[in-house]
Amino acid sequence: MINYLSTRNKNTTATPTMAILNGLAPDGGLYVPSDLSALKIDYRDVINMDYRGMARVIFGRFFPDFGEEEIARIVEASYADKFTAEEITPLVPVGDRYVLELFHGPTCAFKDVALSALPNFMVSAARLNDFNDEILILTATSGDTGSAALHGFSDVPGTRIIVFYPEHGISDSQRLQMTTQQGKNTCACAVRGNFDDAQNGVKRIFTEIPRPAEGVSLSSANSINIGRLVPQVVYYFAAYAALVKAGRIQAGDPVDYTVPTGNFGDIMAGFFAREMGLPVGRLVCASNKNDVLTEFLTTGHYNRVREFHKTTSPSMDILISSNLERLLYFVCGPEQTASYMKALSETGEYTITEEELAKIQSLFTGICASEEEGASAIGEVFREHGYLLDTHTSIAWAAAEKYQGDSPNVILSTASPYKFSRAVMTAIGMEPAESDQENMQKLEAGTGIAAPAPLKAIFQLEVRHKDVIEKDEMMQYVKDRSVR
Ligand SMILES: *Cc1c(COP(=O)(O)O)cnc(C)c1O
Repeated sequence: MINYLSTRNKNTTATPTMAILNGLAPDGGLYVPSDLSALKIDYRDVINMDYRGMARVIFGRFFPDFGEEEIARIVEASYADKFTAEEITPLVPVGDRYVLELFHGPTCAFKDVALSALPNFMVSAARLNDFNDEILILTATSGDTGSAALHGFSDVPGTRIIVFYPEHGISDSQRLQMTTQQGKNTCACAVRGNFDDAQNGVKRIFTEIPRPAEGVSLSSANSINIGRLVPQVVYYFAAYAALVKAGRIQAGDPVDYTVPTGNFGDIMAGFFAREMGLPVGRLVCASNKNDVLTEFLTTGHYNRVREFHKTTSPSMDILISSNLERLLYFVCGPEQTASYMKALSETGEYTITEEELAKIQSLFTGICASEEEGASAIGEVFREHGYLLDTHTSIAWAAAEKYQGDSPNVILSTASPYKFSRAVMTAIGMEPAESDQENMQKLEAGTGIAAPAPLKAIFQLEVRHKDVIEKDEMMQYVKDRSVR
């Protein structure tokens, strides 16, 4: 049976369900499946299934110790009625490309796809392993992860969640998505400081009080958890299946995927889809002005010591892409990976060998696009095809434009354009107003494209979470809320 081991030491192992419960391996590495060949399936069988059928097969390969029946239950609980699109992740032809819409979940960004499943994985993994502590999820967020995690864990028995977000520096709608969140076990709290302050506070709490109260254990909902990565493998198959079904390709034809990338989680799921046997052609890793991954995939040199740019695609404003460590493991092995990660934390950079780079380049291409290129992609696609891209998807569109491959190109669309109304309006030549609510209405009226109902609704909901604290009060805040 498939086992998991740390990217930094192959003797640090865990069963699939324990890997989900642990999140991070004890040596600081990330969990990876011990044997990629054990993941292989015949994609021809899978592409005739509906989304939930595909999810059952794929989850079962990665996490066999749940058992088939439990996997089926988890898939139903995660996807039966949480998404507004029948197909969960519809594929829409736009010009001669295909846009894979991943934003039809409750918070309108792609993180919903994984965060709908993760709470179910965790609760079930706890039961299976006789883990009786209540699971307290702690998350620092700069926007999208916080609302998706709050929604995912809302009223899930045996769990509680606290999300810390910077008091300033997130949009009105992102704030409201969190502060209006329902659920007896949810809590969102503003921190007087920036995202790094919130993130550092959370990291300190994890090391100092991993069990903040008797019978309560901390866990994390961010993308280092293998349970967040695997649900994303499914939509690579779903997109392929849709292309075959629509007669756009024959089963077996290669398909390229272009992915707007930050932490390298979403695109890493594409790597796993290919290892499972899906005919993935190339994976185009699209970056914004923060082009650390473009440089790495072109030269083999990873260097986080560089200027940080705040852009209109904030979820891609990342200088340390945690999930790249998983790719390094498969290409370089655990000893090399551990030494590269050590260099990264000590000096801020590392360089892989030419052979290692060549292996990576046989599948991945890194391309970056500027703010201007992203904005003109939004304008052009709207004028020519009447389709609205969000600010992250538009970076991927611009990268696909530069890539110019021969195979069909699927662009992963990670957020609804209405999550970033202001920047989208500017890009199509409209004048933005003061508030996000007005902008949403104006954009809807100006384009005739409906805004998603859950986003419109937040402006009418009661604000439930009003706490604002100093950054050095975070530890006490968690302790106070941990007592059962
Ligand atoms: C998180 C996020 C990304 C980046 O995904 P990674 O898995 O971190 O590479 C891209 N777009 C949006 C809208 C996101 O929320």
